[in-house]
Formats: sequence, structure tokens, C-alpha cells
Amino acid sequence: MEEILVVAEHRKGDLRDITFEMLNFAQTFASQNQMKLTVLLLGQNISEMAGRLEDSCDNLLVLDAPELAAYSPDPYLLVIEKTMQERKSFLTLMGHTAAGMDLAPPLAARLSLPLMSDCLDAKLDNGQLEVHRQIYGGKINAHLRLKHFDQYLVTVRPGCFPASVNHDRSANKVAIEPPAWTEFRRRFLAYVEAELADVDITAADILVSVGRGIGKPENISAVQEFADAIGATLSCSRPVADKGWLPKSRQVGTSGKTVRPKVYIALGISGAFQHQAGMKNAETIIAVNKDARAPIFNVAHYGIVGDLFQVIPILKDKFS
Ligand SMILES: Cc1cc2nc3c(=O)[nH]c(=O)nc-3n(C[C@H](O)[C@H](O)[C@H](O)COP(=O)(O)OP(=O)(O)OC[C@H]3O[C@@H](n4cnc5c(N)ncnc54)[C@H](O)[C@@H]3O)c2cc1C
Repeated sequence: MEEILVVAEHRKGDLRDITFEMLNFAQTFASQNQMKLTVLLLGQNISEMAGRLEDSCDNLLVLDAPELAAYSPDPYLLVIEKTMQERKSFLTLMGHTAAGMDLAPPLAARLSLPLMSDCLDAKLDNGQLEVHRQIYGGKINAHLRLKHFDQYLVTVRPGCFPASVNHDRSANKVAIEPPAWTEFRRRFLAYVEAELADVDITAADILVSVGRGIGKPENISAVQEFADAIGATLSCSRPVADKGWLPKSRQVGTSGKTVRPKVYIALGISGAFQHQAGMKNAETIIAVNKDARAPIFNVAHYGIVGDLFQVIPILKDKFS
């Protein structure tokens, strides 16, 4: 029976959400296509993490070794490459995360496999793999059908599937043999903690978020006034943080924070997928943008096409 292989990801002793998101997808995919679901877990002192995975997959491959204590590309590549070569899984999934982006291209090159990166979904249609990706900064959804191949490698965008899994399987646990370790050219030194946040935007019920549409830093005060008037906290898209108009700790998105407020008001934010990934699960999203085709409107529950400087006083009036 063919299999789908999920490469588990963890950090500082805890499985990351992306592991469960991939499992959520893989459980459905495996059931729909009569495949076995296998998880590969690499690390050191990982028995507790293994315990959390063993009832959600059919095979759990574990390698517990000091070389794998923290993610580092050289040892991880060796083990994953060897495992993929031996198992020849039909579909191998990795997170489209810093680690997945680091590992997937060299694996695809070494094993001559087709790689589809940053996928939002995948399915088999008449035996052919079809993946869903976004291109042009999220403006276009592309459904791509891949040429026939025996094995595929796919990286999955974080946040596309719920991080919840069914616990209805009982894994066959296998301690895999370590490869012949070669000399590592790169090694893990330390985790560098993010700078201390001025406010915790993840704890706010209402966020007013500003994007490049704000134009210049002097305009932030008008938005801050609006936020204060409705009891909201100010957050932003990446360009606003990059320019130093607001602290980095206020940035929402893949390289910022993931937020789930009750209300998220996006002002002058186009809605690139890196931004959406951090806010699309807000309960109510209100977007103001002068471009009716801005991708933010794809996730907004309420959209206002207009100049944010004209809309803010109206919203302030209505909400406060
Ligand atoms: C690896 C990587 C990680 C990234 N991580 C993040 C991340 O964490 N967070 C993030 O936000 N981005 C991130 N980005 C950047 C992302 O791709 C976009 O470039 C960014 O989100 C765009 O920010 P924006 O919407 O503020 O600016 P723009 O895309 O320039 O959009 C500005 C919007 O404002 C509108 N506008 C202009 N003037 C007005 C006005 N007066 N009234 C109303 N609307 C107006 C325009 O129509 C436009 O839609 C990342 C990119 C990469 C490559």
C-alpha cells in the first residue's frame, strides 16, 4: 500500500502546530486514497513527543540522537534523504517553515523529485496530484496538476489546516537506524529570542492594523487616535514595521505574530498571503482599501473600498 510521509517539526521540546496541521490534511488524504500514514520524528529525548503522535498515524519512525537535538540542516538532510530513499513514499510533506524551506529544495535536487512548495491544499484526481498554491502575492489562486511521478515532495503553508487530528490509529513504532554521519558544515548554536514586545497584540480583542497605505509615519497618529477611541490596539503589516513606523512586535503575519482578535480592522493593507496567514482566523475582519481588487477583501467579512483617511472618521463615529 502506498504511503504519505509527514516530517514532524518541533522546537524547544514541543511539537509545532504545523505538524498537526499536516497530520490533519494527511489523515484525510490517506483515508481518501487508501494510503498508510507515516510520521518521521527526529530529535533527542523525544519520547514524549512520540507519545503525542502514536495514535494519529499508522507508522511512527523515530530517530533519537544527539546530532538531531535542535534543527540543523546537515544531519536532518542525511536522515530524511535516507528515509525517503528507503520508503519511496508517494507523497512526503514538510512545513513551509524556515526548516522546511531549508530542507525541501536540496532533498528534491538530491532525489530528483518534483517539489511543490508553499501549498494550501492537495488532492489526487484520477491518480494525478493536484496542488493549490497562490501566486503574485496572493492575487491569483493556481490549481496545478503535476506530471505523473512515483514520488512527490510538497511543503505545506502554515495555518491552512486546523491543528487538530483524529486519535483513532495505533502506530507501528520503528526506531530507525542513524545514517553514517558526515562532517557537518553548519551547526546549531543557539535560539535567539525575539525582542521583548511593547504590547502583546495577540492578547487584544480588537486590533486596528495599518499597512503601507498609511503613506507616511506622521499619519499613524490619526490611526492611533481611532484605535484609542474604540478601545483597540494598534498593529501593522511588515512594511510599516520594516520602516520603523511601529515596533516589530506589532507586526502581523508569517514573520510577525499570528492573531485571533474578535475584530481586526485592516487599513491600507493589501492582504499578501504572508499577512493573511497571521490574521485570517480573526472572528470579524473589516478591511478598508482603495483598491477593490486587493486580496484582503478575500478574507474580509466587511469590505470598504475607499480612502482610509476618509473612512476612519466615519468608523470612529459609528464605533465609539
Ligand atoms: C518571507 C516573507 C515574510 C513576510 N512576512 C510578512 C508578515 O509577517 N507580515 C506582513 O504584513 N507582510 C509580510 N511580508 C510582506 C508581504 O509579502 C507584503 O509585501 C506586505 O504584507 C505588504 O504590506 P502592505 O499590505 O502594508 O503594503 P502594500 O502591499 O503596498 O499595500 C498597501 C495597500 O494600501 C492600499 N492603499 C494605499 N493608499 C490607501 C489609502 N489612502 N486608503 C486605503 N487604502 C490605501 C493600496 O491599495 C494597497 O492595497 C513578508 C514577505 C516575505 C517575502
